[in-house]
Amino acid sequence: LERLLSVSEALQKLLNGFKPVDVERVALAQACGRVLAQEVAAGYDLPPFANSSMDGFAVRTVDLTNASPETPVVLEVIEDVPAGKMPVKTLGPGQATRIMTGAQLSPNGQAVIPVEDTDFNYRDPGTQAPAEVRVFRPVSSGENVRPAGQDVRAGEIVLSSHRRLRPQDIGLLAMLGIGEVVVFRRPRIGLLSTGDELLPVDAPLEPGKIYDSNSYTLFALVRRFGCDPVPLGIANDEAMAVERLLDQAISQKVDLILSTAGVSVGAFDFVKSVVEKRGRLGFWRVNMRPGKPLAFGHYREIPFIGLPGNPVSTFVGFEVFVRPALAKLSGIEGSERPVLRLTLAEPVESDGRESYLRAYANYTETGWTARLTGHQGSGNLRSLVDANALLILPSGVKSLPIGAEVEAWLMDEPLPGC
Ligand code: AMP
Ligand code: MG
Repeated sequence: LERLLSVSEALQKLLNGFKPVDVERVALAQACGRVLAQEVAAGYDLPPFANSSMDGFAVRTVDLTNASPETPVVLEVIEDVPAGKMPVKTLGPGQATRIMTGAQLSPNGQAVIPVEDTDFNYRDPGTQAPAEVRVFRPVSSGENVRPAGQDVRAGEIVLSSHRRLRPQDIGLLAMLGIGEVVVFRRPRIGLLSTGDELLPVDAPLEPGKIYDSNSYTLFALVRRFGCDPVPLGIANDEAMAVERLLDQAISQKVDLILSTAGVSVGAFDFVKSVVEKRGRLGFWRVNMRPGKPLAFGHYREIPFIGLPGNPVSTFVGFEVFVRPALAKLSGIEGSERPVLRLTLAEPVESDGRESYLRAYANYTETGWTARLTGHQGSGNLRSLVDANALLILPSGVKSLPIGAEVEAWLMDEPLPGC
């Protein structure tokens, strides 16, 4: 047995075994939640041309210096410029063009006076532009004009590589006329359950048996992260069965094999000997709770992570180790997960290992507070169901009083996989 590893040491060792998958090209409509594998530079300015932010009249500022409600300035309206139409006339002294929001500013136009500040207070695009308009106030240069390049300059990098695309990113790509992007392929994650006691959820329950819940939890976690789960089924505790499913994983071209159970001291030697026929497997003891045992290695060159079988250990092991591994496989750089600071609404205890406690985080007038959701046994999924946060107690901390601050992850995040 190896010595006890800290969580961060174990994570570092594990991540060394991963590299990003290859890339593919997808249409913009398919790109949300995918990880960009190219840098994106703007091919032109945004907005691409100076345009009006109001419905009104494009004017030269000098003409309106003395305008007021009592002494309105009369301007000749020489052109009507709806959005989408290119203005053709140049403004001369005493002239204006009627302009709608988003329309390009006429040559010599310096500002837009909104319809509300004129005697022609109509914004309905169906209305005919007037021959002349009375303006009730002066205007400063640039007022109600969105200059070309205000948002983005041609050549600027607007999206870096290795980040997950969100809806607003997709919109910006469309603004730039980019209809396809290069993204990392969605990693395929093989899910394997081991144990003689396990039954598939559609089989009748038998005495002494339980349903295989881990593969369902992991399926959902993997999918929520934006990877493709590949269920491999249940292997009995015998070498042939495990080996058969491992080989099935290989033929299904998975990027990672994720197994649960069989990493406890008694069971481990058998999993190890199966994996090591075609690879290598290390058995780690991690200074954490729940989920102390962890197996990591490779089977026929594909990374293999063995999580402990208790349902909460499986979940926490996913959050702590698998999720960062999936991020690396997916091409993501940098952490996506915010750490919150919560105030304890009740005292908490641990055994001094780095502990992940199931809690309910609540926003109150005094800020974020947290309360444990029930029995913290690693087989008790109910308290995880009632929780929306995992409190992270650092190693060496055996108790924290009410009112203490504690770091936490929120679990009910939006679905990155879109
Ligand atoms: P093991 O690591 O094989 O000693 O399993 C630890 C505990 O997790 C035992 O109580 C198992 O019955 C339980 N367990 C193992 N695999 C699963 C699974 N796929 N779904 C639900 N519980 C499991
Ligand atoms: Mg077992």
